[in-house]
Amino acid sequence: MGLRTFLLDKIQKVTEIKKREIQKDVWVKCDKCGEVSYKDDIQKNYNTCPSCNYHFKVSAIEKINMILDPGTFVEIDANLKSLDPLGFKDSKRYVDRIRDTVKKTGINDAFISGYGTIYKKPVHIGAFEFSFLGGSMGSVVGEKITRLIESAISNRHHVITISCSGGARMQESILSLMQMAKTSAALKKLSNEGLAHISILTDPTTGGVTASFAMLGDVHIAEPGALVGFAGPRVIEQTIRQKLPEGFQTSEFLLQHGMVDMVLHRREWKDTIYKLLEFFG
Ligand SMILES: [Zn+2]
Repeated sequence: MGLRTFLLDKIQKVTEIKKREIQKDVWVKCDKCGEVSYKDDIQKNYNTCPSCNYHFKVSAIEKINMILDPGTFVEIDANLKSLDPLGFKDSKRYVDRIRDTVKKTGINDAFISGYGTIYKKPVHIGAFEFSFLGGSMGSVVGEKITRLIESAISNRHHVITISCSGGARMQESILSLMQMAKTSAALKKLSNEGLAHISILTDPTTGGVTASFAMLGDVHIAEPGALVGFAGPRVIEQTIRQKLPEGFQTSEFLLQHGMVDMVLHRREWKDTIYKLLEFFG
């Protein structure tokens, strides 16, 4: 093989590898319908599939930004960090698990909270970050939700929570379970002040989060196709020894059975919430 042919061959191979890398970056296959779409089109479509409306997983801050006016979010309590009061250890020490997760995610715990505006209307808002230990609720998450509600009360704002959680954080045991009562009590105070709580349920919302403040909204909005429930379907089937109905624990099933008020595509969140805020005054 001559030098020229050799070089041309090499260049062609490198170009092909580059092309493949770019394509992997440009195209995304839908987890639900399998349709391949432009990454750009998916992002412009609020990270949903253009052909079947499947809602791809997005981070807490992305969900907040889908609702608030651009650049208006001000975070509060960002520096609250978990202690390890029980000295818990499973396959890893809890302190090490927290330290590694903080490093990986760049946030201090599984809930981001603050305030901002929706078409210039001020509102308090918080969202779960699932990549932080499965969006589990321990002392810090419970404290941040409670402070968010208390801050909303002193500013006379309504509150929006966006849940995405595996439930209570087992590494903090009873202290995690206590957050259910604490956040629920805070919401009672909010309600006594005539202020509203709009709860958005995204995939998945389960365990102690569903069993407390997430289901204590004045309005419940669910993401299409989201899993929303307390215990998983397998555990329930084993307990009641009955086959569960089709679509059990999905947003649509909960809408049919009166547990949520609406199932909304992400693109409708902002306008609908604005109308609700107008209604609540
Ligand atoms: Zn799809």
